[in-house]
Amino acid sequence: MTLLHSKSLGDTVFFPFWLDTPEAPEPEAPLTQTTRADLVIVGGGFTGLWAAIIAKEADPALDVVLIEAEKIGHGASGRPGAIVSTSVMHGLHNAIRIFPNDLPQLEALGQANIAGFHDTLSRHRIDCDAEWNGELTVGIGEESLPGLREEYELHKAHGHEVSFLGAREVRSELNSPIFSGGLWNHKNSGILNPAKLLWGLKRAAANLGTRIYEHTPLERMEEDGLSVAVITPGGRVTAPRVLLATNAFAAGDRRIRQRVAMVRDRILATEPLSPEQMDRIGWRNRQGVYDTRTQLNYMRLTRDNRIIFGGRLGYFYGSPRDPEHDRTPQPYDRLAAAFFRTFPQLDDIRFTHAWSGPIALTTRMAVHFQSYLGGKAVYAGGYSGFGVSASRFGAEIGLAKLQGAKRPELDLEFARTMPGRIPPEPFRTLGARITMHALDTADSKGGWRRLWLAMVGRLGFPLS
Ligand SMILES: Cc1cc2nc3c(=O)[nH]c(=O)nc-3n(C[C@H](O)[C@H](O)[C@H](O)COP(=O)(O)OP(=O)(O)OC[C@H]3O[C@@H](n4cnc5c(N)ncnc54)[C@H](O)[C@@H]3O)c2cc1C
Repeated sequence: MTLLHSKSLGDTVFFPFWLDTPEAPEPEAPLTQTTRADLVIVGGGFTGLWAAIIAKEADPALDVVLIEAEKIGHGASGRPGAIVSTSVMHGLHNAIRIFPNDLPQLEALGQANIAGFHDTLSRHRIDCDAEWNGELTVGIGEESLPGLREEYELHKAHGHEVSFLGAREVRSELNSPIFSGGLWNHKNSGILNPAKLLWGLKRAAANLGTRIYEHTPLERMEEDGLSVAVITPGGRVTAPRVLLATNAFAAGDRRIRQRVAMVRDRILATEPLSPEQMDRIGWRNRQGVYDTRTQLNYMRLTRDNRIIFGGRLGYFYGSPRDPEHDRTPQPYDRLAAAFFRTFPQLDDIRFTHAWSGPIALTTRMAVHFQSYLGGKAVYAGGYSGFGVSASRFGAEIGLAKLQGAKRPELDLEFARTMPGRIPPEPFRTLGARITMHALDTADSKGGWRRLWLAMVGRLGFPLS
C-alpha cells in the first residue's frame, strides 16, 4: 500500500455509507408464530419489496408476508453504486448478446418498467435523492474509442438519445486526464440513494398491509398439500405461493446456485468535496459514470457531493454474508489506486466508507427465473450487478410466473429459458481466483490474462 492510499484509507469505516445514518428505521420483529398467507416473499431487498407492492396493489385483499434473514437492505440493495438504467437486460449490448430476436420487446419492457418505477415513487411519495441526468460511459485510452463509437451508433439506431463526446468534451463533463472520449445516454437514467429507496419501498409495502418480519431467515421449504410451508427458526408460514427474492444468496433451493455465483464488488465513498475540490473535477451534470477498463470502475456523486467509486471484484469460498476480509483496508488498496489514477487532482481526499456487496452473477448477466415445488415457488434474481431498476421488472415477472398469468412477456425467451450452469466447487473458486487476477492485471500486463478472459467470455461471462 502506498503512503497516499494508506493515508486516504486511514480513518475509513468498513460499512456501507448509505446505511450509516440515524435515518435507518428500526427492524421489524422476527416471526415467532405459525401463520398462513396468500403469498410469502423471501428476501427484503429491492426485488422482495417491489414484489410486495406490486402484489398488494394488484389485489389489496391478498395476505402477503415478507421475511428477511437480517435487516431490510442487508444484501446488494443497501450497497450499490445505484446508477439507474432503463435496461432490464444489463444494457443494450448484453440484450443483443443474449436475446437478439426479442430486442424491440425488451427495449419496450425496459421503458415500461422505468415508467412504473417513477409512478410508484411519486404515488407513495418516496424521496430517494434521485437525479435523472443520464449515464456516461467514459473511454480509457485511444483504443477504447472504436468500441465507444460502435456503442453510440447502436444506441442511436435503437432510438436512444445519446451524444458522443471527444476527449475535450468528456473532460469538460468530468475532468480526468485518463478519459479519452465518452458516450452520454441522456434519458431515463441517473443516480439515487438506494437506502432511501429501500426504506421508502418498505414503508409503502407496510402501508399497503404487507406483514414484514426481519431477522427471520428461511431455513427450508416443505410441500404441505397444495401449499408450501416456509420454516424459519421461530415460526412457520404456509402459503400457496412463495417468491424467492434472495438474489446472490440463492436461498430456497440448493439447485439455484448451479446457475448463480456470488461474487463481491467493492466500493469507496469519499468525504464530501468542498466547492473548490468540486471545481477541480467539474461534474456539473452529475451523471452516473462507467469506464471501459477491464476491471471496470463506476462513479457518481451523492447529494452532499461525496464521490462513490466502485468496481473491484472478489470471490469467497462458501459465499459468506459479510466477509471479514472486506472489513479491512487491504482489499480496497487497488480501488483507491484506481481512484487516484482517475482523479490525481484530488490527492488531498480521504475515504470515509468502504464496503463490499454480493453480486448474483449468471451467464446471462441479467435476471432469470427458476421454478420449484411444481411452480409453487419461483426464484427471481441474477441481475449480475445491474438491478436497481431491473429488480422491479424481476419482481413483476416473477409474480406473473408464480400466478401462472397469461401475459405475452412470459412467452419471450428470457422468461422461458435459463442461464447456463456454472462449474461447482472447488472449480468455481479456482476459476474465480484466476479470473479476478486476470481482471486486475489484464490492462497493464496483457498476455495469458486476455486469453483467459476471452475463454471466460465464451463460457458466457463477457468480462473482457
Ligand atoms: C457493490 C454493488 C454495486 C452495485 N451497483 C449497481 C448499480 O450502480 N446499478 C445497478 O442497477 N445495480 C447495481 N448493483 C446491483 C443491485 O444492487 C442488485 O441487482 C439489486 O439490489 C438486487 O436486489 P435483490 O432484492 O434481488 O437482492 P438483495 O438486495 O441482495 O436482497 C436479497 C435479500 O435476501 C435476503 N436473504 C438471503 N437469504 C435469505 C433467507 N434464507 N431467508 C430470508 N432472507 C434471505 C438477504 O439478506 C437480502 O436482504 C450493485 C450491487 C453491488 C453489490
